[in-house]
Amino acid sequence: MPLEFLRRKGPGQAPAAAASQAVQTSASSHALPEEVVAQEHQLRLNYAGKTSEGVRIKAAAGAALDDLPSMLVGIAKGEIEVIEPLPIEYSQATPTIVRPSEAMQWLNAHHMRSPVARHALVVLESIDAVDLAFDTFVCALLDGEIDTSGYPEYSAIVGGVAAHWDEVTGDLIVRGVVGWGGRGVRGDTDRLGARILTRLLTSILASQYSLGLTAVERPAAAHGHGGVVCPHCGFASAHERAFYCPKCGMRLLRG
Ligand SMILES: [Zn+2]
Repeated sequence: MPLEFLRRKGPGQAPAAAASQAVQTSASSHALPEEVVAQEHQLRLNYAGKTSEGVRIKAAAGAALDDLPSMLVGIAKGEIEVIEPLPIEYSQATPTIVRPSEAMQWLNAHHMRSPVARHALVVLESIDAVDLAFDTFVCALLDGEIDTSGYPEYSAIVGGVAAHWDEVTGDLIVRGVVGWGGRGVRGDTDRLGARILTRLLTSILASQYSLGLTAVERPAAAHGHGGVVCPHCGFASAHERAFYCPKCGMRLLRG
């Protein structure tokens, strides 16, 4: 398409260059100024968080998963919610509204959760501190205020513990997770978050099944194709390399 066409305002009007000459003589309101007087629009979103080292929880301790919520007792400022790993049909779930299919999966997976849990997932998934392909995430409001709809304020701290099965030993690896954020930043939130993370790690280490700190890395994120269906609980894992069922921790059988 010829460039001249783009510069026209409409049929019968002069090209922009001619119009800006016209402005000197006739001060026409249709003239294109040399420089645009722009109104600025901006939104700064700030999401941040911290995760602790992992604590190894004895394998075959079937009660280990059930024990996770108790690690938040005395630290949580409200309801403690357990969010289990997502099955294969939600393997693309992402809290990103401009990607409708990912966003729909995310909403279908999480619409019934509390506002605190949804906020925690948005913050912690956005900064890659939690991955529900393999994590069981137990969360609550840990500090700060919620608004009248129940959503945490930007300076509120949310989080709890996240656990996944060590693919080598089948032990449960549990770490503390805290996050915060939104349309603002407060200077003391980072320090407060670090203090709460210490309390969470202390609480995890105090578990009767704890074998102490471990250097095990989180599994690499592997969304998409899906692995095997757990013969014990029927969970269809989204994590194709899983050796232990992300949901119940039982050994997966491979065909
Ligand atoms: Zn299972």
